[in-house]
Amino acid sequence: MSTTADDRDASHVLTLEEIGKLAKEGGRPPLRGSLISPRAPATNRRTNLRYNHRMMSGESYNPGEIEPKWREYWISNRLHEAKDDDPRPKYYCLDMFPYPSGSGLHVGHWRSYVLPDCWSRYKWLQGFNVLHPMGWDAFGSPAENDAIQKGIQPKVGTERNIENFKRQLYEIGAMYDWSREVTTTDPAYYKWTQWIFVKMFKAGLAYKTFMPVNWCPSCKTGIANEDVVNGRCERCGAEVTKKELNQWMLRITKYADRLLNGLEKLDWPEKVKTMQTNWIGRSEGAEVNFTAIAANGNEHPLKIFTTRPDTLFGATYMVMAPEHPLVKELTSPQQAADVDAYIEKVKSERDIDRAAKTEKTGVFTGAYAINPVNNEKIPIWIADYVLMAYGTGAIMAVPAHDERDYEFAKIFGLEIREVISSEQGGEAQARQGEASIDANQAYIGEGTMINSGQFTGTPSEQGRKAICA
Ligand SMILES: [Zn+2]
Repeated sequence: MSTTADDRDASHVLTLEEIGKLAKEGGRPPLRGSLISPRAPATNRRTNLRYNHRMMSGESYNPGEIEPKWREYWISNRLHEAKDDDPRPKYYCLDMFPYPSGSGLHVGHWRSYVLPDCWSRYKWLQGFNVLHPMGWDAFGSPAENDAIQKGIQPKVGTERNIENFKRQLYEIGAMYDWSREVTTTDPAYYKWTQWIFVKMFKAGLAYKTFMPVNWCPSCKTGIANEDVVNGRCERCGAEVTKKELNQWMLRITKYADRLLNGLEKLDWPEKVKTMQTNWIGRSEGAEVNFTAIAANGNEHPLKIFTTRPDTLFGATYMVMAPEHPLVKELTSPQQAADVDAYIEKVKSERDIDRAAKTEKTGVFTGAYAINPVNNEKIPIWIADYVLMAYGTGAIMAVPAHDERDYEFAKIFGLEIREVISSEQGGEAQARQGEASIDANQAYIGEGTMINSGQFTGTPSEQGRKAICA
């Protein structure tokens, strides 16, 4: 039986045992050449083909035997470790680190890890020096609460959970460089987060202030928006309240422009980009004061935020977030039942999903608002596509020039009035007064203002400033 690639008989087909033996003896691993680089020696490529042929010709596949063998082989040969001085081109593939909970790695974890794993292998086969690390986002109140419940140190529980996750990832056969494992609860790691924090503090980017947080009175912790389900704590089911807490904040708003510019370059789905944009929260625009008239005749100032004041004449209705403090006050007795039912339904939705939702829902409040630019009376609706956390929690809806408003207006039969024409000055003015009924989508670009009183004929970018003056 031949043990090196050089004297191997071309007609001989290697058995799996022989491949394993070759590996143990430290001879050139038979599969390695063809796995790593398309420029592998011809003999290795041929061997690989024969090996595949043998597999397909009916020899039984015994995962209990084969999988541990190769896992061991990968580990002992450090095949998945990225070396700094490796001459191959570098490739970095980073997954979001899991939170190592007591329940272990579940299929939802692997669902998001399997693709980067395939991708890393693919890049490795293409001849890259792939760095594909794994680590543990291990700090957090769940670990603390779990430790309190079990009467153990959080450190002990966390280490045990990590050990279990690691075993599971190993058994799956994932390709990770375990020499670069990161654990956020390891002092050798978090001394660097502390170092960064001090740098930020000295640069005036970290500051302390009172801010409301979602508070679970039972877990006695603040919880993220994503962990509030139906107004209740996802972990323990207790009703979540708001609490003003003195807490550390980072001025990421100082970097909003850079974050948004970077986002543009990413080849991500639009839905995810929208979520990120909302999260970054940077918008340039104006606050405009409308007057809301409640069903009982009482008047209330209603402030809205818009990035397009040049479309003010195209506002045909208003939308408030269902949580807006004025909703109760404005709603008419006839609409009260529908409004209450809708508010109840929206309570169970997370902001992050609401912003990305495609189907539009909403309810008329029975109240109206006066548009300050033309004194027009327009209906006030509530809808979950308007978030309390964004702007003022109320918007003017301009369906002709905003995609979400357009979808909403189509569903509820609200007026769509064109006030920005893509045509230039004279041509656009000639179209003044023409209905946009034939338009089957919102026009969100710049253009010339039409149907806009004294601003008609003004380029939209110029009108944006003029109308606020
Ligand atoms: Zn709780």
